[in-house]
Amino acid sequence: MLEERYCPHCGEKLSSWIGPPESGWGEILVCNNNACVFYRNSQKDIRNKDEDNSLGCRYAEDPDNGYSSFNLLAWYK
Ligand SMILES: [Zn+2]
Repeated sequence: MLEERYCPHCGEKLSSWIGPPESGWGEILVCNNNACVFYRNSQKDIRNKDEDNSLGCRYAEDPDNGYSSFNLLAWYK
């Protein structure tokens, strides 16, 4: 069982997500809040570089690696 974890940027409960097989990840925890400060700021950064880019980074943690945080690249919807 995974711990209940909360996003340090917006306080939203992180949802579990199974990474694509080719990523090598197992189950990870992701902040799915579209209003998350972390996500919105990442979009701003990327968009400054390329207007057409629709990628952002979501806050994520890897339970297999001591719940270390990393940036999960995500399509902006
Ligand atoms: Zn968040």
